[in-house]
Amino acid sequence: MSNKVHLGHTARKRFGQNFLTDQGVISSIVGAIAPDNDHVMIEIGPGLGALTEPVADTINNLTVVELDRDLVERLQQHPILKDKLTIHQGDALQFDFSKLQQPGKKMKVFGNLPYNISTPLMFHLFEFAEQIETMHFMLQKEVVLRLSASPGTKAYGRLTVMAQYFCQVVPVLEVPPHCFTPAPKVDSAVVRLLPYEVKPWPCKDVNVLRHLCSTAFSMRRKTLRNNLKALLSDDDFASLNIDSSMRPEQISVPQYVAMANLLCDNKK
Ligand code: SAM
Repeated sequence: MSNKVHLGHTARKRFGQNFLTDQGVISSIVGAIAPDNDHVMIEIGPGLGALTEPVADTINNLTVVELDRDLVERLQQHPILKDKLTIHQGDALQFDFSKLQQPGKKMKVFGNLPYNISTPLMFHLFEFAEQIETMHFMLQKEVVLRLSASPGTKAYGRLTVMAQYFCQVVPVLEVPPHCFTPAPKVDSAVVRLLPYEVKPWPCKDVNVLRHLCSTAFSMRRKTLRNNLKALLSDDDFASLNIDSSMRPEQISVPQYVAMANLLCDNKK
């Protein structure tokens, strides 16, 4: 049997299907998620149920978002899961997570994510950060390094700044390729994202921060002054005490927020 076939399903590369098969890793992830009935529990990409089954086992209801229609059909017919699952067939990138909100409950979101869409999916989920208590995701290890990077390192970039603006980022576990079927070509890691109840560096308009970061990191080898010349003047940098001859990856998250807030003030 091909190593792409697992539980009678042929893994689809275009949907980033690498099914978790290591029971030790599955238990560690479920322990980290800490499923409960006090939160709206949401899984992205349940697949064949490696995480779905043990999580659903401990709670009354689990909402899942799955793109692959064949897998949705399997979940709908699953002898134990079918009564506990609320299934949404569709693209998590387009999904309006706010419609799952319930009065007085925040969400706990988790998933072994399809690696081909994990970065845009992170940006999409940050839009709902205020309604989310915790997120636990299996990602390409390189993406976890980017999420948790410090200024001045190669991994530090636009994703780092936006993730650390919204959330506390905690790497949880590294997972080698042999823990999946089929085995991915890259190392993986689990990350915990804890959206801030009160942001340490509040921004007046997060869209301005988003645009600023995209522009600042558009050319990593150039200086901040060069990348941001259409947005901020030498006087602006001086008023914030930011050295504009630095490269974008040398600038901290609070410094990016300070620049975004100045841009908001300049617009008034
Ligand atoms: N959770 C399962 C596991 O751990 O074995 C499957 C993980 S597999 C890496 C990713 C899952 O996400 C697959 O079930 C795939 O069909 C689903 N998927 C892919 N793209 C998706 C999307 N845009 N929206 C929702 N689910 C998606």
